[in-house]
Amino acid sequence: MNQQQAIINLDTVIEKIEQARLKLSKHHVVQLVGVSKYSTSNDIKTVYEAGQRAFGENKIQDLKQKSKELEDIPVSWHFIGTLQKNKINNLIDLNPTLVHSLDSFDLALELNKKLEAKNKKMNCLLQINSAKEDTKSGVMPEVAIEIYNKIKKECPNINLKGVMSIGAYSNDTEIIKQSFVTTNEIFKNCKNATICSMGMSSDFELAIQCGSNMIRVGSALFK
Ligand SMILES: *Cc1c(COP(=O)(O)O)cnc(C)c1O
Repeated sequence: MNQQQAIINLDTVIEKIEQARLKLSKHHVVQLVGVSKYSTSNDIKTVYEAGQRAFGENKIQDLKQKSKELEDIPVSWHFIGTLQKNKINNLIDLNPTLVHSLDSFDLALELNKKLEAKNKKMNCLLQINSAKEDTKSGVMPEVAIEIYNKIKKECPNINLKGVMSIGAYSNDTEIIKQSFVTTNEIFKNCKNATICSMGMSSDFELAIQCGSNMIRVGSALFK
């Protein structure tokens, strides 16, 4: 990808975010995470130079490699993929800005234990499987608030900042919208939660309309 293309892609996404957020309120601020999982470090650098600072990876190994290759620039790294218990220590050592994919209480306990042993803290979001799909991870919407509160109470080394969802897998906009509304309702009921991460390249405008304040955009930025 060349610099000119990166600027066009970023400007296009920012313009769409701007229009979507203003429909909600001029005070509704949306953070953009560039999902770089299918991209090389060179392409990340190009998009960084166009002005983007936060990037997300979904595999620990890729996060490790790319953050090493790009250690000279102050990228803010997000982890958005499924976290396996045997990779927790690796993730902790990479000091991510935010982990979006805490998807069970069991995982939270394990993560908390390992953070405690290293005397560290980690910013996390609770992933919610709002459309109840077999193919997706996350806690069920009915129990999400209860689990959120339990993690807050029992996992002092996890800074739980809010919730994350992937929109329903559907061609029907109403079904996707419903999944975002479900997550946003939970978000509003989680005490002191500040981040509602939902929306990807194909549906971020809809997600913002439903209250998302952090979107994860890959293909629209890196094309
Ligand atoms: C890949 C991925 C994205 C970005 O998807 P695009 O459709 O490329 O924008 C967002 N969130 C998660 C969890 C992902 O795995």
